[in-house]
Amino acid sequence: MYHDLPRTARFWSFLLAVDQDLAESARKKACSCGGRLHCANYLRKPRGTRPQLPEPQCLRLSFCCDRDGCRKRVTPPSVRFLGPKVYLGAIVILISAMRQGPSPRRVRELSTCFGADRRTIARWQVFWREHFPQTPFWKVARARLTPIFEITSLPYSLLDAFLRRHPRCRGWTLLLRFLAPITIPGALRIEVSR
Ligand SMILES: [Zn+2]
Repeated sequence: MYHDLPRTARFWSFLLAVDQDLAESARKKACSCGGRLHCANYLRKPRGTRPQLPEPQCLRLSFCCDRDGCRKRVTPPSVRFLGPKVYLGAIVILISAMRQGPSPRRVRELSTCFGADRRTIARWQVFWREHFPQTPFWKVARARLTPIFEITSLPYSLLDAFLRRHPRCRGWTLLLRFLAPITIPGALRIEVSR
């Protein structure tokens, strides 16, 4: 069972470094209109971290096109923030996975520790069970993964797949990287099948 997140400051600064790489490649690609992208980060104040993270850790890296008439915002994928959720991606995964485990008491402890109430956690469950499997991302990505995942055991089965094969920090990083494409605004829209 995977009871906890890596606690070290190194883990969190490493995730920030991965986000900075992802942001840099987005910046290099420029805006679709050809305009240059300027830094337009915003503060997300992620919940669910203890102790409080220093400010750079709370910044959602983002850009704004510098061309008049466009000014489009471009937000690259992130290994730290999961979609529009204010909780850090790692915590959303961990607490949701724990819910599927055999130890409800431990879930209570985690929820208290990270300040997520039952309703929030229930919403995350709905996200993993109903919303996530319908995303274009998952439909493509699941084909690359062995074993085949049961929807009912997401995200536990995902966490298990990554942590079983790698040391903890590395496993978490690889998993968050794998999920990074769903953190772009709009990426979680459900594709309506015809
Ligand atoms: Zn533009």
